[in-house]
Amino acid sequence: MEKNSLRFRSGRYYTNLPIRDRAAGSLSLPMIVIQGMSARPTLLVTAGSHPTEYAGVEAALRLSRMLNPRKIRGRVIIVPFVNLLGFNARAPGACPEDSVDIFSAFPGTGGETVSYAIARELFEKVVRRADYVVDLHGGELNESESLFLAWYCKVGNVRVDRASEKLARTFGPDYVLDASKIWVNTKRSTLPKGLLVYEAARLGKPAIIGEGGGSGRAGEPEVRRLLEGLMRVCIAIGIVRGEVNERPSERVRDLTLLTTQYDGLLSCKVRVGDRVSRGDLLAELRDWEGSVLQRVSAPYDGIVEITVNWMPVRAGEYVLAMVRY
Ligand SMILES: [Zn+2]
Repeated sequence: MEKNSLRFRSGRYYTNLPIRDRAAGSLSLPMIVIQGMSARPTLLVTAGSHPTEYAGVEAALRLSRMLNPRKIRGRVIIVPFVNLLGFNARAPGACPEDSVDIFSAFPGTGGETVSYAIARELFEKVVRRADYVVDLHGGELNESESLFLAWYCKVGNVRVDRASEKLARTFGPDYVLDASKIWVNTKRSTLPKGLLVYEAARLGKPAIIGEGGGSGRAGEPEVRRLLEGLMRVCIAIGIVRGEVNERPSERVRDLTLLTTQYDGLLSCKVRVGDRVSRGDLLAELRDWEGSVLQRVSAPYDGIVEITVNWMPVRAGEYVLAMVRY
């Protein structure tokens, strides 16, 4: 074992993942470990890489209190505040210090600023020690509630791809999203490259995103569903004893972010979960005198995955996401 690798022990304990020394003091991420007599399997649960997606953060914290180290097999590592600086700043999206979205900064080799350091340390010290990864998301403070869905990404390794897909179904969401292809309008995005869920799968670890909640809320229904999804995963991989019943979910694909071309005032015409047809009006962008600058319409028959709540939006920002059924 390398000298600077983390040491784990049995029991439940609250600790810190060191990130880096800073000009003043040092930065580390809160981390909770619940370990039984053995270390395998190890499940890593992360939340808060989008820092105001509070339902995931709350579900991760509750999971840490629900698991009894004397009753589980293996180990659960929980990192509930991946974008800690954004969480404390109550700022949705990127890390406020360097404007980097940690969500897509994995494995952390793309730069030297603090977001890359967080992604790198998390990836090298924790993800590598895990057997499975669940990254929790949802809508941010400036977004609606998302669909309740679980994503996985194919990485070309049949064993891992099947295991990730199975893990996504196990989570028990309304929708299972094959996020192997992600689009910005009609163009293929570089994502999912850089996402934890993708980079962990490339290391051979079955990985999913569990998504629920939004608008800066951690309400009971969405927290409970995420928590239930986590428990279902714990049971399915043998950490907690029990049985997981099959739950029907709809398969969707082609996550598509629709963006605007202008600065303007946004008015959304649809709601999350709406089934729309190609060409349907989804959102309108106007100037403050009322002239229409842009109409955002559906690129295909699909389902509205999430909408943006901001009234003022900037050119190039995404205002709505869809998935294809
Ligand atoms: Zn997110």
